[in-house]
Amino acid sequence: MRLNCSASVYTGPYIAIQEVPMEEARVKVTIRCNLCGEKFVLRGRRDKGSIDTGFKQCICNNSNDLDIEEHSV
Ligand SMILES: [Zn+2]
Repeated sequence: MRLNCSASVYTGPYIAIQEVPMEEARVKVTIRCNLCGEKFVLRGRRDKGSIDTGFKQCICNNSNDLDIEEHSV
């Protein structure tokens, strides 16, 4: 007797990559440095409560004292 394999859950190497939802929250983020006053306008992606903009630090090396404003695109 043979089992019908096609009915079992496929757990091969091609596990589906988690699809990005269509309503992926794209946001525009304005970051102002409180030390030197430089402004950065970045496109970001909201991800579980935080916003991923790729921003690391200001040109003055400040990475903590920042004023971050979020706008929906
Ligand atoms: Zn700065």
